[in-house]
Parts: sequence; structure tokens; C-alpha cells
Amino acid sequence: MRSLSLARPGEALDILCLGAHSDDIEIGLGGTILSLIEARIELRVSWCVFSAIGPRAAEAEASASAFLAGATGYRLELGEFEDALFPTQSRAIKEWMINIRGRASPDVIFTHARHDAHQDHREVSALTWNVFRDHLVYEYEIPKWDGDLGRPNAYFPITRPVLERKMTLLREHFGTQRSKDWFDDETFQALARIRGMECRAPDRYAEAFVARKMLLSCDAGPRPRG
Ligand SMILES: [Zn+2]
Repeated sequence: MRSLSLARPGEALDILCLGAHSDDIEIGLGGTILSLIEARIELRVSWCVFSAIGPRAAEAEASASAFLAGATGYRLELGEFEDALFPTQSRAIKEWMINIRGRASPDVIFTHARHDAHQDHREVSALTWNVFRDHLVYEYEIPKWDGDLGRPNAYFPITRPVLERKMTLLREHFGTQRSKDWFDDETFQALARIRGMECRAPDRYAEAFVARKMLLSCDAGPRPRG
């Protein structure tokens, strides 16, 4: 299948990553980020975690710096919205997101999936589409006990070493999540393998997204003479 390249080596790419909680961005697109950096794309990242309070703020900082080692630059924005109650804080979250919009001009936005079963994730997704109206948006997926995985339509193939690195960093940085019985290498690898199978990834693994709107174009090139 022909792929649409986000950027070539040496080209700049600005991305905005929106995550409700401190491990969401890493789970949803950690492998994609590691791959973009490995491909020597000049990656500039706005990394925004809406609920990063106490130990979860420290986790978010340490993990972002590990995943983004080698990025051209990044800005970390940590909010203190109350976990599990995002729908009741919608107005304040929207204001925070509008402020982020004022500081960022991303080529691509990564946000939560519209039909995610977690109310905080859904709120961030809905407000993303509400606040960012002229942007390329990809919605990432988070496995969980609700069994809410949807039908993605965009894939980013990743290599085995990238998947290993993603799983290692998740293990190292998210001690608070160890009590969740789904938070382990087997879950992350299984999902990556299924998504890799679906897109026929050369190295068997992939992360997957929902792309609701995309613009297609062609390079017009020089006008023919005469
Ligand atoms: Zn979350």
C-alpha cells in the first residue's frame, strides 16, 4: 500500500500531543514518536498532559524527556485537572486548550479517540475537534478493560526495537500503573502485532489511529512551457 509520508529525514515536523493522563501519549503513539526521531526528522513537540498531579507530574516529566530524547525540541505542558471528572471541568479544560492553541502551530495533532470509553479521554477528544478546526488530527487508541478498541484507518508501522524501547520506557516510568492488570508488555505487544498485521507492517508491528479528515493534494511542479 502506498503510504503518505509525514516528513522526510531532515525536514521539520511540529506535532501536538494531547493526553488526559500521564501515560496516554506514550501508550497511544510512543512508538510513532520514537520512530520519527530515529528517522532523523526534526521533530518539535508540544506534549500536553491534562491531569498530572503529584507523583504523576514527575512521571510525566521523566517519561516525556525519555521518549523525546533526540527530538529537536519540545515543550511540556502539565495541567492539574481532576482525574476521572473531566466532563465536569469542560469549560476550564477548553480554556486551557485554547491557550495551548495560541502557543502551538502543529502540522499534526494526536489526540484521544472519539469513542474511547474513558470519560476523560472522550472529553479531550471532543474539545480537540472543537478548538482545532483547521488541522490534521489523528486519534490514538488506549487498550483497557472496557474493551472499547475501535476500527482504526491509519497506521504507523514500527520496528521490533522501537516496540521494545516503548515497552521498556513504559515499564520504567509508570510505577503508579503497575496495579492495573492490563498494563504490561503482553498487552502492548499484542495490540501492536494486530495493528501491524492489519497494515502488513514490514517488521510486524504498528500503532494505529483514526483519521477523520485528510486533505489530498499533488505537487504541481513546474508549469509546462508553451
Ligand atoms: Zn488516560
